[in-house]
Amino acid sequence: MSFVKLKKRLSALLGPDECRFDEPMAPHTTFRVGGPADAWVRPAGPGSAERAAAALRAARDEGVPVFILGGGANVVVADAGIRGLVLETTGCTAARFEERDGSVVLTAEAGLTVDDAVEACAALSLGGLEFLAGMPGTVGGAVWMNARCYGRSISDLLVETEILDEDLNAATVPFAASDFDYKKSPFQTRPVFIVSASFRLEQGSEDVIRAAAAANRADRDAKGHYRLPSAGSSFKNDYSIGKPTGKIVDELGLRGLAFGGAKVAPWHGNIIVNDGTASAADIRALADEVAARVRAAIGVDLEPEILFVGDWPESRKPAP
Ligand SMILES: Cc1cc2nc3c(=O)[nH]c(=O)nc-3n(C[C@H](O)[C@H](O)[C@H](O)COP(=O)(O)OP(=O)(O)OC[C@H]3O[C@@H](n4cnc5c(N)ncnc54)[C@H](O)[C@@H]3O)c2cc1C
Repeated sequence: MSFVKLKKRLSALLGPDECRFDEPMAPHTTFRVGGPADAWVRPAGPGSAERAAAALRAARDEGVPVFILGGGANVVVADAGIRGLVLETTGCTAARFEERDGSVVLTAEAGLTVDDAVEACAALSLGGLEFLAGMPGTVGGAVWMNARCYGRSISDLLVETEILDEDLNAATVPFAASDFDYKKSPFQTRPVFIVSASFRLEQGSEDVIRAAAAANRADRDAKGHYRLPSAGSSFKNDYSIGKPTGKIVDELGLRGLAFGGAKVAPWHGNIIVNDGTASAADIRALADEVAARVRAAIGVDLEPEILFVGDWPESRKPAP
């Protein structure tokens, strides 16, 4: 691995605002925690997708590991940061609409925020994505996570996903229902770069679409989603239990439980918040404690929804 060579290649490939070294990750995540990435690139503007691909090729050639970051709305980056290259997609935001088989399809680059995608659709009276209005994060992150809210998943509208595959070859992955499940996508088990995703939309009324989007944003606001830094739901729901995770945590009286600067939101059992002083380790310790108490009380293993990424101590790394 030659990080020195990678540094030179990235500096030559990307503009000064697009490439930094030892870049703290906290400002790039909604939880506002996380130490430095060895290298961080965020290609933006014309040709950004090509520069992103070139950065990935350079990292592969030099044997440097890569982490793809979208809006950072579902990750807890370790306090020690991320070794290797972080490619942040939020500068890759091009979008186009086209007619296909009698309906309109939006193809959006990975870094477009879902909220901006909703707005772009609404301006053309195109509905479908507005259930995601107000959800932080990007199109690429939402497809990777198969983001879900208000009873719908982003896969419900997905037509195809353009990726750079494991060998960095461009490929189109047509939507197949069997590849997706509750908060599961096929990209979670493959180290691929989601370049863009295409969604089938419905012609509607701009006013109605905007009203639905505004209602969803207001509902999130009322539920305290934006009150303090977080990554939304800490744990997935297990529908076989018959109640959402938030209710289980509430019934055990765990709202307000704190570890350092991390706290179970006093207003929502399934959101861990950062009071402004939390470390990534605080958040992880608190998530562990909540899971342990639920296991002890009702014998259920909660599955974390937030992703713990980066350079965690050896004892915290998953078994190979
Ligand atoms: C206040 C709040 C409310 C939330 N509400 C919801 C909700 O209702 N429903 C829900 O599902 N989630 C919710 N979330 C979580 C989050 O918004 C979603 O998971 C979102 O889809 C994450 O997108 P992102 O771009 O931020 O991804 P990131 O957090 O940056 O990344 C998540 C994962 O996707 C991978 N990834 C991202 N982009 C790419 C790409 N282009 N190619 C390959 N891999 C990629 C990353 O490597 C990482 O593994 C909420 C979060 C917050 C802070």
